[in-house]
Amino acid sequence: MLMCRDLAVIASDYIDGELPVFQKMSVKMHLIMCKDCRTFIGNLRASTELMKTHSSGRADEELIRRIDERVAEALKEGPRDSTNRGP
Ligand SMILES: [Zn+2]
Repeated sequence: MLMCRDLAVIASDYIDGELPVFQKMSVKMHLIMCKDCRTFIGNLRASTELMKTHSSGRADEELIRRIDERVAEALKEGPRDSTNRGP
C-alpha cells in the first residue's frame, strides 16, 4: 500500500511517465483516495510544465553545461567543496 510520503518521493517520476506500470497503478489508486496528494501532484505537474514551456530546452542545456563545468572543477579540486559555495 502506497503512503503519502512514498508518493512524494516518486511524484516527479510519475509526472515524467518514468514509473513502471505497477507503480503507476498504485499512484493512481492512491490519488483516487487521497485528496492531499491529488493537490500535490496537480501543483507539481503545473510547475513542471511551466518550467518546460518557459525554458523550451535551451536554458536547460546551458544550465547543465555550467553544472558540468562546476562538477568537473570540484572533482579536480577534491571533495572539500562545502566551504566555498555561492558566488
Ligand atoms: Zn496521499
